[in-house]
Amino acid sequence: MKIPSEYYSQGGIPPDVLDTVGRVIAEFEREYTLNLNDVVAESMGSENQGVVFQYRPLNKSGATDPRVYINTDYNFDNLRFALKRNFEGGVLSERTIDELVRHELAHALTFQGVPLNRLNAFNAELNEEFVRGVSLYSDRLRDGAEAIAEAFTKLERGESVPEEAKLLVERLIYRWRKK
Ligand SMILES: [Zn+2]
Repeated sequence: MKIPSEYYSQGGIPPDVLDTVGRVIAEFEREYTLNLNDVVAESMGSENQGVVFQYRPLNKSGATDPRVYINTDYNFDNLRFALKRNFEGGVLSERTIDELVRHELAHALTFQGVPLNRLNAFNAELNEEFVRGVSLYSDRLRDGAEAIAEAFTKLERGESVPEEAKLLVERLIYRWRKK
């Protein structure tokens, strides 16, 4: 996965962030079978100014098109401060930009291989299996996929998570680990 070179010349996203995204995806692809079409730099609008990265399984036409998006409206001057504040406050599991990217890739693996006509039902099932107590962020959203991605980050650092969250990570993410 290469970051399109025009993102470097367009500005908005610092080159070191683009480098990090490209490097982390390449590292992840050595560890996991990852089917990701592209990385897209996109304006997410005023209501999403706090979003840095986002994984989406579908494109605007509703077709399967898994990509990671980088928000060109995000103020990247704040990124390291926001990470520190959210991590130290227990809001997010992620401590580094690398871990933020890997969180999105955890979403990609969670939804990877789910047929388009099963996507909504699959997401509803994840929400039924929601596990409390992984991070404040996933608890606030009560979102099953977020609890899994947040648990994935903690498990990668060797930290403990509720047993049910660990089982979900094993079932939905580790299944894509390369032997
Ligand atoms: Zn997430």
